[in-house]
Amino acid sequence: MKQVIPKSHPRAQSLYIRERLVHAFDGGLVAKEGLMAHGRGEAFDYLIGERTSKTAKNAIRAAAFMLQQAQNPVISVNGNIAGLCPKEIVELARASGAKIEVNLFYSTEQRKQNIYKTLRRHGASEILGLDKKNSRRISGLDSARRVVDKDGIYSADVVVVPLEDGDRTMALKKSGKKVITFDLNPLSRTAQTADITIVDNVVRGIRELVTQCGRKQVKPKFDNKKNLAYSIIQIRDNLTRRAQVA
Ligand code: ATP
Repeated sequence: MKQVIPKSHPRAQSLYIRERLVHAFDGGLVAKEGLMAHGRGEAFDYLIGERTSKTAKNAIRAAAFMLQQAQNPVISVNGNIAGLCPKEIVELARASGAKIEVNLFYSTEQRKQNIYKTLRRHGASEILGLDKKNSRRISGLDSARRVVDKDGIYSADVVVVPLEDGDRTMALKKSGKKVITFDLNPLSRTAQTADITIVDNVVRGIRELVTQCGRKQVKPKFDNKKNLAYSIIQIRDNLTRRAQVA
């Protein structure tokens, strides 16, 4: 008999998130490569236990503080993040005073427009990254992602880049920006390069980040390398527990 997973079970939530991404792919927001990046994320979500850990919550509070201190924070939006949490992106922009910029690796005009419309439908008023007149280039990249908006990522001091690839994170760091990322893989180049890495599924963690941005934060004692090391230890402990049960 087929086992029915209760809706509240983390596994059911993972499947629901997967469905959302597939829906976003069908709707022309997500690239094929984005489906694969999601698969990698799912594997790590499984390993971290499909829940928001204390370690992730520490990183979220540190990220909220950094956003509150920023002069020109920007949230970089790609197809996956637009497909998974458009409403939360708009809420995060409001709660943190950050701008929203569409920035795609596999860029087409159509996909940009689809993402733009989705964000607008969820209440975004200003969306950067679509006006060619405002284009500037950041160095160290050969993909479409080197093209950024002069009022957005180009002049930002803090950039939130959820589900990002390592080359871009490194280029942003080299151009002097502070980088906050959501990345389920604590070993990825992005996770290791960012100033603050939230090792959590963005769909779970972003709501907590919105909440924390709405609260007054005190300067945290935060060390990203140590926090990442704890995330890796958590994966090891989860695996050990499972191996003992099996
Ligand atoms: P890097 O270039 O940084 O070493 P990568 O080659 O794995 O990493 P991509 O495939 O471009 O980079 O990025 C996808 C990253 O996003 C992966 O590390 C994946 O674990 C993570 N990811 C995918 N889906 C989610 C999600 N829903 N929440 C958080 N992280 C996710």
